[in-house]
Order: sequence, then C-alpha cells, then structure tokens
Amino acid sequence: MKYAVVDRGDERSKELARRFHELAAQNGFQLDEAKPEIVISIGGDGTLLQAFHNYVNSISDVAFIGIHTGHLGFYADWNADELEELVSFMAKETPIMVRYPLAQIEIETSTETLNYLALNEFTLKGVDGTLMAQIDVNDELFEMFRGDGIVISTPSGSTAYNKSLGGAVVHPSIESLQIAEIASINNRVFRTLGSSVLLPKHHHCDIISKKDQRIQLSIDHISMMYSDIRSIRCSVSNRKVSFPRYRPFPFWNRVREAFLGYDVQ
Ligand code: NAP
Ligand code: MN
Repeated sequence: MKYAVVDRGDERSKELARRFHELAAQNGFQLDEAKPEIVISIGGDGTLLQAFHNYVNSISDVAFIGIHTGHLGFYADWNADELEELVSFMAKETPIMVRYPLAQIEIETSTETLNYLALNEFTLKGVDGTLMAQIDVNDELFEMFRGDGIVISTPSGSTAYNKSLGGAVVHPSIESLQIAEIASINNRVFRTLGSSVLLPKHHHCDIISKKDQRIQLSIDHISMMYSDIRSIRCSVSNRKVSFPRYRPFPFWNRVREAFLGYDVQ
C-alpha cells in the first residue's frame, strides 16, 4: 500500500505522523508522496481539506483517512488513540469505499476559463461592498442577488459554512449542490428567494457578475481575489472523493455527535 501523510503542523499532529510512519514501516506500507493510494490527514477537518487540495489532480486514484487531534470532525473521524487499531485495519481488512459528491465550478474571466473542485464549498463575496450578481438556473434567470455573498456547498460541506447560514444538512448520498445566501438585500431591484436551494445532479447554476467588481472567491479554505469574473458555472462534479470505511460511522451519528453532544437522551 502506497501512502502519504498530511499533518496540521502542531506538535501533537506531527508526533502522531511520526508514529504513523513507524507503524506503516512495520506493516510494509510504502511512503509515496507523489502517487499515494491512501492519504492520512492528521489534525482536523481543515487538515483534510488541505490534503484533498494537495491531491485534487489525482482525486480518482486517492482515498482519504482523517485522524483528529482536536475535536471529532466530519472528515477526521478517527481518534488519535486509535492509531494502532487503524493501521491494523489497513494492513488486514478490505474497507468499504464511501464516495462523496464534489462541487465543480467553471469561471469565465475576460481572458480565460478556470476549473476548480471543492470538497466543502465555494464562497463568493464582494471585496469593495456588496456582491451583485444575476443567478440563472439551467440557463434561465432565477434571481438578482445583492448582498454579502453566496455559498455553494456539497452535501458533506453542508455541515460547515452552509449550516451557519441556516442551510439544510444534506446526506452525502444525495448528489446535489446547495446555494445559500449571506445577508441578501431584498428590494424592488434585487429579489432573492431567501431560503437555500438544493440543485440535483445534471442541473447547473450560473452566477453572472452584474458590474465590474472585485470578487473574493474561496474554495474550501483557499481564498483568492478576481477583478474580471464574468460568470461562474456551478454543478455537481462527475468526480467523487473516496473514504475507506473500516467500521461503520453513519453520517447522522457524526452530525449528532458533532452538534448535539454525546449525552443526548
Ligand atoms: P476554520 O476557520 O478552522 O474552520 C471553521 C470550522 O469549520 C472548523 O471548526 C472546522 O473544523 C470546521 N469544518 C470544516 N469542514 C467542516 C465540515 N465539512 N463540516 C463541519 N465542520 C467543518 O478553517 P478551516 O479548518 O480551514 O476550514 C475551512 C472551512 O471553514 C470552509 O470550508 C468553511 O466551510 C468553513 N467556514 C465557516 C464559516 C462559518 O461557519 N461562519 C466561515 C468561513 C469558513 P476543524 O476545526 O476540525 O478544522
Ligand atoms: Mn480548521
């Protein structure tokens, strides 16, 4: 088995990474940072986002395992003290591969077309004031948005930024995209639905910039600024992210444990 490790960089995560390398060597796993089959992320959900983007260009050939050194995460669902158990599962068992949908965007600027994938979400915000955009669904005008921003999330990203905006938590078996608003202004000119919208696979939405404006685009934890975006097409990607499951940990249990605590009666 060829593997790589991405850690958060704090002492605890680095120590655990060293321990993983030891155990991996004992079990005959081969360290291959360029072409791993399994990527171990040690830290938090943010670390798994980082690991995902490190290997996004070979996403179909890689599977991710998340170990948390802080609190239980959605992607980082192995405990630090379960490392030995995890390695022994990896050495002996054939896991069930769980595959989660990804969001894709195609950005048209005045000079080029750019493509990106997100594991959690894409966020658009205005840099010099409110964001102004026309939102089309399946090539027809849907609404005129003016406000702080728009978040387009995947099902597994629905528990992150999307949830803070009042969006729904979506099971990752529902291949979809969720569009949530950040503080929309509603008047005669700009009118939005207000509630978040779930688009199924094979539908798409276009976010069309309605003026010359600088836009901050975040792809998961990565932010960049553009001054010449014409439009952004968002859809569910054909590619998915894979997680080997050596033991069941249903999504709804993770939701309950992360948001409601362990001792719910
Ligand atoms: P961060 O500021 O450390 O992340 C914010 C929190 O979101 C952390 O507690 C992180 O967990 C958690 N998180 C990440 N992915 C999640 C998921 N799929 N479900 C539930 N919680 C999740 O920054 P970061 O660690 O680089 O993560 C980037 C993410 O932060 C973005 O993708 C966005 O979803 C989120 N974010 C949220 C808000 C908001 O809720 N107001 C605003 C901006 C960004 P860990 O501590 O385990 O890393
Ligand atoms: Mn984080």
